[in-house]
Amino acid sequence: MGDIKISIRDLHVRYQDGKTPLRGINLDILANKINVVFGPSGGGKSTLIRVLNRLIDLSDVDEIRGEVLLDGVDILDPEIDVIELRRHVGVVFSRPIPLPMTIHENISFGLEVAGEKDKKVISRKVEHALRQAVLWDEIYDRLDDPASSLSGGQQQRLCLARVLALEPEVILLDEPTSALDPVSTRKIEEFLEKAKDDYTFLLAPHNQQQAARVADFAAFFLQGELIEYGVGEELFFNPRVKETADYIQGRFG
Ligand code: ADP
Ligand code: MG
Repeated sequence: MGDIKISIRDLHVRYQDGKTPLRGINLDILANKINVVFGPSGGGKSTLIRVLNRLIDLSDVDEIRGEVLLDGVDILDPEIDVIELRRHVGVVFSRPIPLPMTIHENISFGLEVAGEKDKKVISRKVEHALRQAVLWDEIYDRLDDPASSLSGGQQQRLCLARVLALEPEVILLDEPTSALDPVSTRKIEEFLEKAKDDYTFLLAPHNQQQAARVADFAAFFLQGELIEYGVGEELFFNPRVKETADYIQGRFG
């Protein structure tokens, strides 16, 4: 199957309001693959993503139990350096939120915060990230325009480029194309396919069609439980569990 990048063992999360969005999740996220978690709203997908780069620390959480090993290191350990973790595990959300700066600065800012001072190195990294995010050809001649002048689909690819410039190992994507036009959606999916040799992706798509298009491995989440896991094609075309089949065939949603 491949190398394990993140190993999740018996993960439980309880919010202060008593909700338990994750109840005993066991899942391996495989290196250099497009790993997909899918299922109806409320299943716990976004909570899982927030656990994986510890953004969950900002939520009203009552208890997190279990183990999440990133290359063997438990990221739930209260002693770990969360800033460092987030440099290795980047995240793209559904609504692009560019910084109120130019296109170039949106990417150079993070590099400067990370300590890069050489303008030439910064420019090279900005271009590389914009190329990877399939945006460069559309905007190379207006890098000094405000990011707000871009379309929604371009802004989302800019946010992706901002994450890429920091050279993470894992990229989490929570419904990254839910607000995008089909052309930008295709460009992001194209990026995932091309870039997976260099990254580990965990994608929570906003619909199951996208899951079926891109998943190397897929996990079906329903109300806080992982119902079924497997190779993308097999899971979508030949599910073993009744709930998975019912969901895929649109019997509930
Ligand atoms: P999904 O992304 O699959 O839709 P979520 O992880 O967003 O699932 O939500 C799982 C459950 O946890 C839902 O019942 C949701 O209402 C609840 N939930 C999510 N975030 C919070 C929070 N910050 N506080 C309390 N409950 C939450
Ligand atoms: Mg969600």
